[in-house]
Amino acid sequence: MGRVYNFSAGPAVLPEEVLQEIAAEMMDYHGTGMSVMEMSHRSGAFDEIIQTAEQDFRDLLQVPDSYKVLFLQGGAHLQFAAVPMNLMKNRTADYIVTGQWAKRAYMEAQKYGKVNKIASSEDKTYSYIPDCSDLPISKDADYVYICENNTIYGTKFKTLPNTKGKDLVSDVSSCFLSEPMDVSRYAVLYGGVQKNIGPAGMVIAVVRDDLITDDVLPGTPDIMKYKTQADAGSLYNTPNCFCIYVCGKVFKWLKKLGGMEVMKQRNEEKAAILYDFLDSSTMFQGTVRREDRSLMNVPFVTGDKELDAKFVKEAEAAGLVNLKGHRSVGGMRASIYNAMPRAGVEALITFMKKFEEENS
Ligand SMILES: *Cc1c(COP(=O)(O)O)cnc(C)c1O
Repeated sequence: MGRVYNFSAGPAVLPEEVLQEIAAEMMDYHGTGMSVMEMSHRSGAFDEIIQTAEQDFRDLLQVPDSYKVLFLQGGAHLQFAAVPMNLMKNRTADYIVTGQWAKRAYMEAQKYGKVNKIASSEDKTYSYIPDCSDLPISKDADYVYICENNTIYGTKFKTLPNTKGKDLVSDVSSCFLSEPMDVSRYAVLYGGVQKNIGPAGMVIAVVRDDLITDDVLPGTPDIMKYKTQADAGSLYNTPNCFCIYVCGKVFKWLKKLGGMEVMKQRNEEKAAILYDFLDSSTMFQGTVRREDRSLMNVPFVTGDKELDAKFVKEAEAAGLVNLKGHRSVGGMRASIYNAMPRAGVEALITFMKKFEEENS
């Protein structure tokens, strides 16, 4: 069987060009006689890989010099704890809960201090982003936390919350490198790379320099201190070398395509054709308030569970896979990350039209 169109939310589709390069370098990376999986993280070859990856990432997002870029393990979940452990000087933080991942982070942070839920969209199954222009930000809050793109529900913050001068922390796992970002507006932003960048098992955290300190909560493991990781150049312990290597290839691919402005345009075009179809369809409906729609994750339903299941099954047989919605919401979800070609979205729409004709 050949390649399919993979609409998985994560781990997710990677650029074919990148996969082919990796395959070609598998037995002998640049004359070293070994694959990147087999080499020391202290070797010259790997040093070049990680340095280049960091520089390309910085170039893509125009990361200011006053921020560190860290390649960390433990997934986004470990950051749910690392953020309060490193940032909660007053043991207080404000969380905006727009979905399951934000809720997980909010629950985890409660182990470390007083955590306020200052806004939520739980009342309507997280199908919108609440108005965050004038929230009751706590006077002593160490930070305000958001999940910027809600992978499961398909919503995205189109404007960042007004934090009234407090530091903003953002989980950008599922919109990482999908469009330009103004890094200077964040204290910390981080994302698991398995959504829009690379293989599972790594997080990239971008942390403002003044937050990289020994002043962390008592009991914080050394490995979770941003300072430990920053001082060691993300090589405090053995990092996920292979993942850093693949991410580095994806950064080169993104640069070659033209960088973040071009990706934004491509992603907007891909999302627009799918949302336009959903808006005109009599069978399928999007589940998210129009102005809050994600460019990356597009949930939709027929309104009939059996028909949803039939759709997912028949789509899979047609080579359009992983379209089942998250188990907490049902229906369908098409994740259309950077590496999903426009042709994949077009194939999905063609299939949906055919399914609609056959089943109505
Ligand atoms: C997938 C996802 C997570 C969880 O990532 P892990 O790497 O499995 O910990 C957290 N936040 C968001 C926004 C996600 O999409």
